[in-house]
Amino acid sequence: MELGYARVSTTKQDLDRQIDALTTAGVDEQRIYVDKKSGATTERPGLSALLDYARDGDVIMVHTLDRLGRTVRDTLNLIHDLRERGVGVRNLADPIRIDSSDPDDPMAQLAVVLLALFGQMERTYSLERAAHARAVATAKGRRIGRPSVVSEAQLAYATQLRDGGATVAEIVAKTGLTRSTLYRHLPTRPADPVTAAPTPSAHTPTVSAEPDTAAGSEDRLECPTCGYRPSTRRAMIPHLDDLDTVWLHLDPDGQVREQRHCAQCQPHDVEIVEVNCERCGTGPLVTGIRADEALPDVVLNWLGERRWELGQNTLCPKHI
Ligand SMILES: [Zn+2]
Ligand SMILES: [Zn+2]
Repeated sequence: MELGYARVSTTKQDLDRQIDALTTAGVDEQRIYVDKKSGATTERPGLSALLDYARDGDVIMVHTLDRLGRTVRDTLNLIHDLRERGVGVRNLADPIRIDSSDPDDPMAQLAVVLLALFGQMERTYSLERAAHARAVATAKGRRIGRPSVVSEAQLAYATQLRDGGATVAEIVAKTGLTRSTLYRHLPTRPADPVTAAPTPSAHTPTVSAEPDTAAGSEDRLECPTCGYRPSTRRAMIPHLDDLDTVWLHLDPDGQVREQRHCAQCQPHDVEIVEVNCERCGTGPLVTGIRADEALPDVVLNWLGERRWELGQNTLCPKHI
């Protein structure tokens, strides 16, 4: 029996065209299985039902072979498995026609060999794409680190915001300066706010600014590197924000040291290379390499282990 399979590719009209071609080729509309979802979903209930239904001696007709699988390899495996079950596959519109139901047709055999060759080529291409993605990530690391020009006025505004209790993320949003510029040029944050002026921070705490007396959570509030712990609740917000940022220090021997820093122990006047997620703008800050250098392998590996995407886009694990 002749069975048909159609799967949406780009448009609904395209699906109708596949079905038309199958009925014209003599497949009963009742025997045409269809998958209408496209895109990322891997579920293909139409194909599953068809594979359940197909019996020895049946032939599955498709408009083009790419409808059967997601990759050449996928398609080839499916054709092979079906042939083991005595089910043939025939395409209607590809430049190379295959009919795996006829084991004596030399052209059909040649087509299967060609498909295997294409599968091999596809694997090579995907390796090349991975290498390209890596090169893009490396180039980006270089671009990210390019030193930026900062004016006295910008710096004065940033200092004012910071001393008022704004977090680094808020200062970045308001001044347009990069994180590495801020860490590089901003003077050390005063240990405690020097004035009683209300904080310009959008995240003003709703509790009053009394000294923080919460006990039992000391470890989390103390800087793990220098032990500093702010004495007021208002200073705690930018402090905890500072501790959220991961610093990766590259030692001269090539080892990477992961640290958290509060405003008291943050490195100043060193070159800092930022790794920024394109969605949320956060990511580790790297020291110990020159800003015009590519990100070294230890840093790329660190990011890879934490499931960062470094291909076309730089994305943190929360935003891939
Ligand atoms: Zn510290
Ligand atoms: Zn992100």
